[in-house]
Amino acid sequence: MINVTVWNEGVHEKLSNEVAGVYPAGIHGCIKNFLTSQDDIKVKTATLAQRKCGLSDEVLENTDVLIWWGHMAHDKVPDKLVEKIHKRVLAGMGLVVLHSGHHSKIFRALMGTTCNLRWRDGDRERIWTVNPAHPIAKGVPPHFSLDVEEMYGERFDIPEPDELVFLGWFAGGEVFRSGCCWQRGLGKIFYFQPGHESNPTFHNEYVQKIIINAVRWAAPVNPIKEPTPCPHKKISPEERYKERKAKQ
Ligand code: ZN
Repeated sequence: MINVTVWNEGVHEKLSNEVAGVYPAGIHGCIKNFLTSQDDIKVKTATLAQRKCGLSDEVLENTDVLIWWGHMAHDKVPDKLVEKIHKRVLAGMGLVVLHSGHHSKIFRALMGTTCNLRWRDGDRERIWTVNPAHPIAKGVPPHFSLDVEEMYGERFDIPEPDELVFLGWFAGGEVFRSGCCWQRGLGKIFYFQPGHESNPTFHNEYVQKIIINAVRWAAPVNPIKEPTPCPHKKISPEERYKERKAKQ
């Protein structure tokens, strides 16, 4: 069983009737619903408004894959929590970052770059599967369209992905690396571009399939354990000399 926590800042849904209309149960609720239909996935949700952002130590310790949707409240996520999530990713927890999560503290910390990109309002997008052999592309057609999705364009300031699975093309002619994989420490990270709050993107069957596949791909292979400290003792050169002499 893969334990998934879907984190959503959950602000747009409260501020806009339009967004609440598209996602009556919140973006996290929609993602939870389609993940729950899978027998091997167990889902919890967490939001910014909850105590500790819904991500207590206990919740994190019981999360194999964390899904992240954020946009206007990235700064409200405490640095201490971001450090904990970062450490857990390095120890093996999977992370799936969606859409505007490209500017979240956790994604930027893991990438080490600005993660800036070009953007403009909604346009028709076609997603191309550029690596059909990748586990995240399982059951996804060679291409599919989203009638309206916010345009994200290159250059996307990210480190070269370990694997590129999807490429986005917009009717305005822009292209974007829409589905990228990295490994940091023992943790697998997948970034997926579609998912603007006022578009019904998370209701699309292929978007759902991609997120389900990404959860299975990012799930840790072995139990997540805190890394053991570096075995080298901190000793002075004099002590090291004495130790070496004693062994001779
Ligand atoms: Zn957006």
